[in-house]
Amino acid sequence: MDLILRCPHCHGESLLTVDAQGEAVSCGLCDRLLFEYELASERCGVVYVLSNEEFPGLVKIGCTKRAAAQRAQELNSQTGVPGILVVEAYWRVDDPFESERLIHERLATQRLEGKEFFRMSVAAATQSLADAFGAAPTFSRSASAGLGSQSAGSGPTYPSVDWRSAK
Ligand SMILES: [Zn+2]
Repeated sequence: MDLILRCPHCHGESLLTVDAQGEAVSCGLCDRLLFEYELASERCGVVYVLSNEEFPGLVKIGCTKRAAAQRAQELNSQTGVPGILVVEAYWRVDDPFESERLIHERLATQRLEGKEFFRMSVAAATQSLADAFGAAPTFSRSASAGLGSQSAGSGPTYPSVDWRSAK
């Protein structure tokens, strides 16, 4: 499958042929990294940590075979729940359901009965899962916020337009 990519930095277009290998994709004109991808497999998924400003001191820990952002969106579209769930961190794992079960078991004393909510801070939850998986999160909101402010100061500046919302 071929995709036409529009660079959010220089607005140049590149053609990408998506294949099973996956790769890091850079803009053909300004050479900035646009994104990295891989094809989703049947088995893999993520275990995620979500927070909600309306419920300080609580995190939601769960899993999905899809993307953490999609799952958060789905949960946020359910009516009757105040606030917005935010993806704080996730780990890409081979067996999301088994991984989730082990994590829930490990954190059983902090669990709200019958729910996927745990009485702990985002930092404590992230550390606890990092220990359990023996790996830093695949994505961490706090880490990516740091990267964002770092890269904003480097390289040439271009007018910033959100091309995703452009028609
Ligand atoms: Zn570019």
